[in-house]
Amino acid sequence: MAGGPPCRPSKAGAPPVSPEQLPTPRFCQLCGHALVERYLPHEERWRLQCEQCGFVHYLNPRVVAAVAPERDGRLLLMKRAWEPRAGFWTIPGGFLEMGESAEEGAVRETKEEAGVDVELRGLLGVYTRRDAGIVVVIYRGLVPDDAAPRPGAEALELRWFGPEDIPWEELAFPTTVQALRDWVADREAEAPPKST
Ligand SMILES: [Zn+2]
Repeated sequence: MAGGPPCRPSKAGAPPVSPEQLPTPRFCQLCGHALVERYLPHEERWRLQCEQCGFVHYLNPRVVAAVAPERDGRLLLMKRAWEPRAGFWTIPGGFLEMGESAEEGAVRETKEEAGVDVELRGLLGVYTRRDAGIVVVIYRGLVPDDAAPRPGAEALELRWFGPEDIPWEELAFPTTVQALRDWVADREAEAPPKST
């Protein structure tokens, strides 16, 4: 068997490898033979195809569902405990599970990472990380007054930020920056006009 790092049993509690860090698949999931890159004229694209059975292995983006959780005009951010971008701030979110809606995934991730049952308040936006092959669906969410946020295993710390003190230089991903800009813009659009 050629190449690749040896497979070792994972240590209990070790952080998982992020999907974007995984190498390109090398073997057919139908028959186990090697995949090769071929130009498929009818699709006008290069694809990974099995040398043995002809199966085409499509590589498509994955969906992340997330929430911008707010209360009293402030946003709850979490400092990431895991790579990629450990130590940087983002909003609760994660990869959708099979059989789960985007709304369900967003609520579940917020419970896991921030310990609160968030109430969704519509879509904030849909953001694409082309380099990582990820589409992020982000909802606005209300954290109930009686909910006490506590960091889950993936968060080093949780903290409330107003629009004026968001740590723009310490945000984890370009999609986090885009989403928080949209959140701030939405808030300004909703604010009542200042009296003169
Ligand atoms: Zn095959």
